[in-house]
Amino acid sequence: MSKDSSYEEKRNMDATPEPSSSGSEKSSGDRPVFVIHKHDASNLHYDFRLEIEGALKSWVLPKGPSTDPSQKRLAIPTEDHPMEYADFEGVIPEGQYGAGTVMVWDRGTYKNINMEDDHTVPMSEGYKTGNIGVDLDGEKIKGGYALFKPSSNNLDGNWLLIKMDDDKADARRNPTSTENKSVKTGRTMQQIRNDHK
Ligand code: MN
Repeated sequence: MSKDSSYEEKRNMDATPEPSSSGSEKSSGDRPVFVIHKHDASNLHYDFRLEIEGALKSWVLPKGPSTDPSQKRLAIPTEDHPMEYADFEGVIPEGQYGAGTVMVWDRGTYKNINMEDDHTVPMSEGYKTGNIGVDLDGEKIKGGYALFKPSSNNLDGNWLLIKMDDDKADARRNPTSTENKSVKTGRTMQQIRNDHK
């Protein structure tokens, strides 16, 4: 897959606490990782990141993930982030790209469940064609999710994230409003901000 270099092009790495890329496309281990950052920038949003071929492929989720299969959540593709970013939590200073508070809202591993004619479609291929299916094993978010570019509405390049209707689906849960602490440090957004002062 072609390397996306826009992460460091968008940032002044001397002025942001965000990690720079080590340059090595290291794998995190047996199971690829995913992370969902909560990011209070100019707009509060979530960032969904999936490890694919040594980088974190990333989508902005304006409303975050849902556990309700009837909810379609917009997923706007954004620049690749380095693997080191999976653990990043802190405050990006004023004036820097993405200025604001960043929380590790959820993280875990995932399994590629995108099958076609008895074989698993590689994640890199699913990313290219806009058709990903993953089983997430996070602390808050679990089970199957479809992440895809709708063919009837692909002019803007946006994707959709939809919970699959499996035993982890739950229309009554609303984790983005009820589960608002970091899975890394247990802090709220306010505590992350305060600790930075
Ligand atoms: Mn963001």
